Amino acid sequence: MIEASRLMTRVPLVDLHAQYLANRAEFDGALGRCIRSSSFIGGPDHEAFAAEFAEFCGGHVALCASGTDAIELALAELLGKGDGTGEIVTVSHTFIATAEAVSNAGYRPVFADVDPETYLMDVSEVERVITSKTKALLPVHLYGQMVAMDRLTTIAGRHHLPVIEDAAQAHGATYRGKSPGQWGDAACFSFYPGKNLGAWGDGGAVVSRDKSLAQRISMRANHGRKDKYEHPFAGVSSRLDGLQAAILRVKLRHLSQWNKARRRAAEWYDELLDGTDGIQLPKTSSDAEHVFHLYVVQIEDRDRILRELNRHGIGAGVHYPIPVHEQPAYGNLGISPESLPVTHRIAQRILSLPIYPEITREQVETVSAELRSRLRR
Ligand SMILES: *Cc1c(COP(=O)(O)O)cnc(C)c1O
Repeated sequence: MIEASRLMTRVPLVDLHAQYLANRAEFDGALGRCIRSSSFIGGPDHEAFAAEFAEFCGGHVALCASGTDAIELALAELLGKGDGTGEIVTVSHTFIATAEAVSNAGYRPVFADVDPETYLMDVSEVERVITSKTKALLPVHLYGQMVAMDRLTTIAGRHHLPVIEDAAQAHGATYRGKSPGQWGDAACFSFYPGKNLGAWGDGGAVVSRDKSLAQRISMRANHGRKDKYEHPFAGVSSRLDGLQAAILRVKLRHLSQWNKARRRAAEWYDELLDGTDGIQLPKTSSDAEHVFHLYVVQIEDRDRILRELNRHGIGAGVHYPIPVHEQPAYGNLGISPESLPVTHRIAQRILSLPIYPEITREQVETVSAELRSRLRR
C-alpha cells in the first residue's frame, strides 16, 4: 500500500534523493574524508563550515544542533533566561519551533497578525502589540522571503528592542540587498534536511554582526566551554556534528545556484497559474530577493483539493494547517482563533506546491495542470 502510493508519486514536495544523485561524488568524498579523520564533534569540517557560512552571510557564526536551539540560544544570550513574564513579539503563522524557542527560553510569545499576500509579519501591527513587558522582536522570514526589515528595525530602535530573526527558511534571501543577520542583532538558521541549505540530520546556526555575541553563543552551545577544561559559564550541549558540517560544506557551494533554480521554478508556476480563477499566487515585495523555500498559493476548498492532488501523485502540502495560537500546546496563552483574523483565515486556504532546485519544467506543468483542473470543478 505504502509502496504503491510511492510509485504513484509523480512530483514529490521535495526531492532530496535527486540532489544526492546529481552530486554523489562530492557528497561521498566529503563523508569519506570526515570518517577517515574521525572528526565527529568539532574538527576541520566544523571549523571550515563555520568560516564559510560566515563569509556567505557576511557576519560571525555560532553553529549549534538545530534551528530551534539557535533561536533559544540567541534569546538566552541577548536577554538572559526569562521568568515567564517577558514578552517576545513574533507571528503565529510559522512552524511551532519559533514559539517553542521563546517559551523554552522563559518568555511569552505575543503574536502580530500577518499580511494576506506575502504571509509575513504585518509590520504595521507590531507597535499595537508592543507593551512595557516586550523584550524583543522575532520576525520570521517565512517561505524564503524576508520581512520588511527596514520598517521593523526602525520600530525596534524606537522602543529599544533587540531583533532576532528566524531565518530557518531563508538561507540566501535578502531584503534591500541585505541578508538575515545584517538587519537584526542575530539571525537563526536551521539545517533541517528539507531546508534550502539542509544537512543529513539536524543542525542550526546563529549569525550576527557582533563577533563577541557569536562567540558567546558558540560557547553556550558547547557547555560554556572556552577551552578543553575551562567553562566561564554553564551552557548546554547543542553541537553540530562533523559529518553534518562536511555535508553542509558541499551544499553551501551550490546554494546560490540552487536558490536561482528555485526562483526559476516559482516563475514557471507564476506563468502557468496566473489568471486562473479561484487561486491567489504568492506575492514578492520588490525590495525582497525571495529564495522560495516554499511556493504557497491560496485556494478555496483546500483540504479536498489537497487530498485529490496527493491521490494523483502530486506531493502538495500545507505549511502550516494549525496556527501556533490555535495549537493545544499554546492553549494556555488564551488567545482566541479569530483574534488573529488573517492568520486564522489563510491557514484554511494555503497550499504548498512541490518546489526544489531539481524540479523540471515538465513537473511544474504537471502540478499546474492537475491543480487547474481541480479548481475548475
Ligand atoms: C525549521 C524551522 C525552525 C526550526 O528548525 P529545526 O532545525 O527543525 O529546529 C524554526 N522556524 C522555522 C520557521 C522553521 O521552518
